[in-house]
Amino acid sequence: MKVIAATRNAHKLAELSRILEPMGYQVVSQEEVCPGFEVEEDGTTFLENARKKAVEIFRRTGMPTIADDSGLCVDALEGAPGVFSARYADDEGAFHDDKANNQKLLRKLGDLPMERRTAHFVSAISFVLGEGDIVECEGTCEGHIAFSQVGDNGFGYDPLFLVEGGSFASLPGEEKDRISHRGNALRTLRELLLARQK
Ligand code: IMP
Repeated sequence: MKVIAATRNAHKLAELSRILEPMGYQVVSQEEVCPGFEVEEDGTTFLENARKKAVEIFRRTGMPTIADDSGLCVDALEGAPGVFSARYADDEGAFHDDKANNQKLLRKLGDLPMERRTAHFVSAISFVLGEGDIVECEGTCEGHIAFSQVGDNGFGYDPLFLVEGGSFASLPGEEKDRISHRGNALRTLRELLLARQK
């Protein structure tokens, strides 16, 4: 089955394709079918934003569409940057800038000890299969925020997110997928889709 990945983030598109293609989906990018189109992410939860992206692209194309809205929630910052993950440093004039977001996060945590630097990633998935036919789920991944960047793979907060074996940015992509919030969410999605077929 062909599915549109409702994202303009090339890294996220690569991850979604890497996980969905072995499940039998042929992933088509949003840019291929709706070039230049941007869905405003003004929801207050990850799931609301994911649903908005999937529904709007489905309405425009009539094709099954999958969207991920995701981000990092840091316990010591009461869940920030949360749904604002991509825009965390925007109030400082750095728009959608991974480096600025990482620097701001490091500054906010200061020298807080490792045991208080707990955090988790969330990925909310909304899959619109047809008119009124939608499957949704979430995945998480627990970790800690490093004192400085580790590794140069990946995107977003990957270099600051420590899990067993290193940071997300120091793991090979497939290793990240095996434990990541997005990998977990998409594995749950697969279970939900299989259960619907029974
Ligand atoms: P979205 O495109 O609105 O879902 O924003 C996602 C933002 O959350 C990204 O720009 C990153 O800042 C962050 N994020 C989400 N998933 C990841 C990940 O797997 N690694 C690192 N950062 C992520």
